[in-house]
Amino acid sequence: MRILIVDDEQAVQESYVRSFKGGRTTGQQDALNAMASDLFGDDRAGDAPDADPQPDFVLTLHHQGLDAVAEVERAVAAGDPFPVAFIDVRMPPGIDGRETARRIRAIDPDINLVIVTGYSDFSPIEIARVAGPADKLFYIAKPFEVGEIVQTATALGRRWEIDRELAATRAMLSAQVLLLEEQGLELAANESRAIHIANHDSLTDAPNRLAFLRALGDRTRAEGGFATVMIDLDRFKLVNDTLGHLAGDALIREICAILQATAPEGALVARLGGDEFGIVFDTVGVEPAVMACDRMIAACAVDITVLGHAVRCGASAGVVVTQGAAGHDPIDVLRRADLALNDAKKAGRGIARPFDESMDEGMRSRRRIEAGLGEAIDKGELSLVFQPIVAREALEIVGFEALLRWNTVEHGPISPAVFIPIAEESNLIHDLGDWVLAESLRVMKAWPGQYVSVNFSPRQFRRTNFIGHVMECVEREGISPARLQIEITETAIFDDAERAADTLYRLRQMGFRIALDDFGTGYSSLYNIRKFALDCLKIDRSFIDGMGRERESAAIVQSIIHLGRSLGLGVIAEGVETEAQMQALRLAGASHLQGYHLSRPVPIAEANRLAIARFLCGPEIPVAMPRAVGMAG
Ligand code: C2E
Ligand code: CA
Ligand code: CA
Repeated sequence: MRILIVDDEQAVQESYVRSFKGGRTTGQQDALNAMASDLFGDDRAGDAPDADPQPDFVLTLHHQGLDAVAEVERAVAAGDPFPVAFIDVRMPPGIDGRETARRIRAIDPDINLVIVTGYSDFSPIEIARVAGPADKLFYIAKPFEVGEIVQTATALGRRWEIDRELAATRAMLSAQVLLLEEQGLELAANESRAIHIANHDSLTDAPNRLAFLRALGDRTRAEGGFATVMIDLDRFKLVNDTLGHLAGDALIREICAILQATAPEGALVARLGGDEFGIVFDTVGVEPAVMACDRMIAACAVDITVLGHAVRCGASAGVVVTQGAAGHDPIDVLRRADLALNDAKKAGRGIARPFDESMDEGMRSRRRIEAGLGEAIDKGELSLVFQPIVAREALEIVGFEALLRWNTVEHGPISPAVFIPIAEESNLIHDLGDWVLAESLRVMKAWPGQYVSVNFSPRQFRRTNFIGHVMECVEREGISPARLQIEITETAIFDDAERAADTLYRLRQMGFRIALDDFGTGYSSLYNIRKFALDCLKIDRSFIDGMGRERESAAIVQSIIHLGRSLGLGVIAEGVETEAQMQALRLAGASHLQGYHLSRPVPIAEANRLAIARFLCGPEIPVAMPRAVGMAG
């Protein structure tokens, strides 16, 4: 334990040394102290073993206050401060004990100062004022007792050590607390970043589907009316496909910004995924909600520059207005907005549609139909009817179109116009189609030579090994491919024109007949169809229907017939309902006719009878060649 002693009297210094005998000394008095210990010997070994072991003292002695101050300065700088200093009050010619104490305290706030005085030069209060605090300041009167000095030094030194340990521990603890606080802050930052990422869409930084559903859930539980909107871009796929994904991404960001800027105040605009956005906002009714949607849609229907290209894509919206705190299920709310959106898109895009219960009813009946259709074959609810296709000149029956009928036990007959699209959207169309083909071929074997014309949906046509499958069915029945006409629509071939052209070519090589159904309603230019191997075009019945009323319909019919003939194709006019239509079509050059005016689709037995008779007979069918009739309208 290091002790600093400052006293100008040599005799006093010596008495210190004697007091702390056994300890070492440093400073100017080293030699003297060594001498003293030689003289008095080291009797530490003789200490009683049970006595409190006295610390090992190392004395540093100075005669003058300034030296002591310098010593303390060094010690503090070296990180090895003194626990205790004994200071004499009168030390001429230098600074006195009070000043020494003041200066030492200024350097080392922790040192214990013991003022050793024979006079009451200064009151303790005076010294305490300049060299406090009081609990680190002590007084010993001269002449002092040895025991007193050692006892004081030991006690103060121990306390100083403990204080130091305490201070070190405290410092370490507060450093650790600081570290923990920093780590806590970092964790909190990480956590909020993770929460942000989990709740936001990385492309637009708008809330994502998860956040949207949560907000919708909260809003559903709160009071008051609110609108839930689903917005979908109209021609986004086109932008993506033609300008690339980067352009698509840029467009999504732009649209998101437009929606955020034009959504009603307080609205939550979220990106639900792809080109789909969800918006929730408070509203007092359906009408203002739809108006708000109209504004957002109008704002989206502008030219937007993405990657240097001006793009106009437009948006459609479905909106449902719900009363909050009324026990609604947020998932159901969103589903209704989605149904309304579907309706908006069906109705021509670029519009906002409010939800209406009939949309939900439509969905439910759709599901019922899908379920029923799955069992229709097994329950024997399906049947085929056959509609004659006649040749222009003598109206001879050259074939029959097979048309599917579904007569349900519960709901009676359901139109193919209703159930075929539903079957097409599920895999049911394959089972249905297989049944139709097999049944058509089975029935057709009873006919003398007519072909059967079977409708194939785009999904059937695109099915892998479509050709192999059809060929197998024909071979199984032992029928010539020339007696099967495959009816497909433009949708089936233009979605993947290359592959379709190849499929059609191979089918035709094998001898199958191929008819392009509903011609004129799709997007195929008349020019485009040249590259497909076809036998005939079937003019959609909407044109035949319009022929008598609209100039355009008549013109379209005429140009289709003209085109077909120039390409060497047959042209079947379907949906012929009147004598006038029939005459006009014959005159225009349609090679074949089909429609209620000639014959409705008939059951198998009647079809067999007609096939054998080869001609339709009825009062309205002229026997002779028709007289010339001008195109009406
Ligand atoms: P589609 O291929 O255009 O079939 C012609 C539709 O027109 C048939 O309706 C037929 O009954 C009807 N039709 C025939 N003549 C006339 C007429 O003079 N006037 C009017 N207004 N209609 C006439 P249907 O049987 O209701 O079939 C509707 C659609 O369902 C068909 O249209 C076809 O796309 C589809 N479809 C029917 N059966 C099948 C099938 O077995 N497979 C597939 N994939 N689709 C089928
Ligand atoms: Ca057809
Ligand atoms: Ca048709």
